[in-house]
Amino acid sequence: MNPIPPVPARRPVADSFGRPLGSLRVSVTDRCNLRCRYCMPEEEYAWLPRDTILSFEEIDVLTGLFTECGVEKVRLTGGEPLLRRDLPTLIRMLVRNPRIKDLALTTNGILLANQAQALHDAGLHRVTVSLDTLRPERFKALTRRDSHAAVLEGIEAVARVGFKGLKFDTVAIRGFNDDELVEVIEFGKQTGGEVRFIEYMDVGGATDWSMDQVLSQAAILAAVGERYGRIEPLIEQGSSPARRFRLPDGTTFGIIASTTVPFCATCDRSRLTADGMWYLCLYAKDGIDLRQPLRGGASSEELKSLIGSVWRARRDRGAEERKELEQVGVRAPLIEVDKLREDPHLEMHARGG
Ligand code: SAM
Ligand code: SF4
Ligand code: SF4
Repeated sequence: MNPIPPVPARRPVADSFGRPLGSLRVSVTDRCNLRCRYCMPEEEYAWLPRDTILSFEEIDVLTGLFTECGVEKVRLTGGEPLLRRDLPTLIRMLVRNPRIKDLALTTNGILLANQAQALHDAGLHRVTVSLDTLRPERFKALTRRDSHAAVLEGIEAVARVGFKGLKFDTVAIRGFNDDELVEVIEFGKQTGGEVRFIEYMDVGGATDWSMDQVLSQAAILAAVGERYGRIEPLIEQGSSPARRFRLPDGTTFGIIASTTVPFCATCDRSRLTADGMWYLCLYAKDGIDLRQPLRGGASSEELKSLIGSVWRARRDRGAEERKELEQVGVRAPLIEVDKLREDPHLEMHARGG
């Protein structure tokens, strides 16, 4: 294969708070093979119409335009991204873009055992597997599917085919898995993956959310510290949502404390749904339709100019605004079920985590 030629660096477009356009989450499908209670607790869902779903070529074109506006980190997500047929083909297209420095995938892991080799061969850089519990019965209660063993097989396959940088995303929920934090860290040590605990967020779709189920960063640190002793915070620059910590034996782990310690001030992330709607924040109620102009024949320059002007005007700080609600005592699920049915884009599983 010919080496990819170097490209001149692009200064990222900055928003109205000076935050660069640095990373893009691309949802490749809104469908999912699990029904996690914190994400898809309802019995029925309205899906995005199939004819609106972007083709791989369209995703590649839009992602390319984003990288010309500064994006260097791309994460494929969903729904469950491995349900999108032939995902390695999209990965092969994206890795041809030398501006993408980090191409990652977030998956629930169920289909990983079969696909890990093809994903690696296609050039995917990193995999994050969502792993909330090590107990099959709990997994079943959480996800309403009996597929914990498949997830563990998928995790085993990630290391076997040669991926580096494996991460585990663990949503920490009081009364559900708060007694498993240490076990998950130990599992991470055995499998070579770094654990990131995520606070339960009141995002669209989390209709069962309540503040008393949120296991805060402070509570997570207390529980982990009780077992391991002194926890050292790592001093790191950058826009990563996870604050990282080191245990006395050198093991590192992260906490994404969106609910109790929001980090909107450094947020460089935005999200593209499978049908080409662009959301500037996880909590945003409105998005920008990029599919219509793309399919309507807009030029690359016109689309880039749209992306740039929208990002420059960005003022989103959703998690901070949610936190401020606590001052007046009304923090409850973000969006009612009826509204979610009217617009499935408001769902976490449509815009990717
Ligand atoms: N289906 C894939 C998976 O579960 O890894 C990718 C999409 S999922 C929406 C991405 C991430 O969002 C997962 O790690 C999931 O745990 C997280 N997530 C979903 N709902 C959440 C909530 N209410 N609070 C915190 N994290 C949530
Ligand atoms: Fe669970 Fe991910 Fe599916 Fe949501 S999209 S229900 S977090 S597996
Ligand atoms: Fe970024 Fe919105 Fe999350 Fe804040 S709430 S960190 S602005 S995506």
